[in-house]
Amino acid sequence: MTGKPFVTVEGLSIDFDVPGGALHAVRNISFDIARGETLCIVGESGSGKSMTALGLMGLLPSNAHRAARRLKVGEHDLLGLNRRQMSDLMGSEMAMIFQEPMTSLNPCYTVGNQMAETLVRHRDVTWRSALATARDWLERVGIPPTAGRLDQYPHQLSGGLRQRVMIAMMLMCEPKLIIADEPTTALDVTIQAQILHLLAGLQRELGITMIFITHDLGVVSRIADRIAVMYAGQIVEIGGTRDVLTDSQHPYTRGLLDCVPAPGKTRPGAHLGTIPGTVPSLIGGLDGCGFAGRCSHAAPACRTGIPALTDRGNERQVRCLFTPETLWGAA
Ligand code: ATP
Ligand code: MG
Repeated sequence: MTGKPFVTVEGLSIDFDVPGGALHAVRNISFDIARGETLCIVGESGSGKSMTALGLMGLLPSNAHRAARRLKVGEHDLLGLNRRQMSDLMGSEMAMIFQEPMTSLNPCYTVGNQMAETLVRHRDVTWRSALATARDWLERVGIPPTAGRLDQYPHQLSGGLRQRVMIAMMLMCEPKLIIADEPTTALDVTIQAQILHLLAGLQRELGITMIFITHDLGVVSRIADRIAVMYAGQIVEIGGTRDVLTDSQHPYTRGLLDCVPAPGKTRPGAHLGTIPGTVPSLIGGLDGCGFAGRCSHAAPACRTGIPALTDRGNERQVRCLFTPETLWGAA
């Protein structure tokens, strides 16, 4: 990465005390994001994507333990902030968009009320001007002002509209970092495409840095500058979108890509790849490579030592003992 990163995550670990020991949801992960860049975090269910995001934002469940060497967003050292300072930062500097907008929308207040309330809390503005800004923002996210949306309650809106309201409410405070956790997964594909287009457009226009979490690699190819692939709480591959998608170097990344149907290439009824087996238990330490039990290339050495995430050039890092040439032969 050229220049100073806007987001720095260094040595982030998140554990839960569960019956049977400590569940390691996130194991010592590190990544940087440049200003205005979109990093997509992908991986199977349970790989630690949401916990990474919530850990960065300081929004973890109360039974979680977080440790990190460094967590920085812009000039803010997040590890040095107390709960109140962190909550001031949320909404003004950084915002989170969830899969289910009702997580953030209050069913008891009208859309206009909660949008204005958010703005008044984070900016020095009057209620009247906050309402006017809310109306403008609804228009920007494609909700016409004529529809009287400001006076409606969240339950009166469709899922797609609710997600637009949520996006408007977050962007209206002009955050510099957005973390979107599966924001379109619950929507049908056409609405999903519209919301992605909207979010990516506004993000570019406003120069916002984004962490976008998804398990949908089709979405990734459309919006990510870089991709981090997570498996069992670790990053197993990270690099530029094109590099990772067209020249993946970790068997898990390859496995994920083989599971995706390619429009125009995959014939109806054709066999799609699957990754056999399941994610190892997250309770306790890993004995070797977390993916070894499911990897058709695994060798004895993969089960005895945890491979380090190593540089492969071109800002790519991969956690595998083997090179692509050894795994798949020369291209
Ligand atoms: P998904 O794609 O399903 O959203 P994810 O990659 O976001 O998955 P996380 O929500 O980050 O997964 O969870 C990582 C691990 O942490 C999972 O194994 C999960 O069971 C565990 N976990 C999450 N919340 C808790 C909790 N409150 N107590 C104990 N374990 C938890
Ligand atoms: Mg999740």
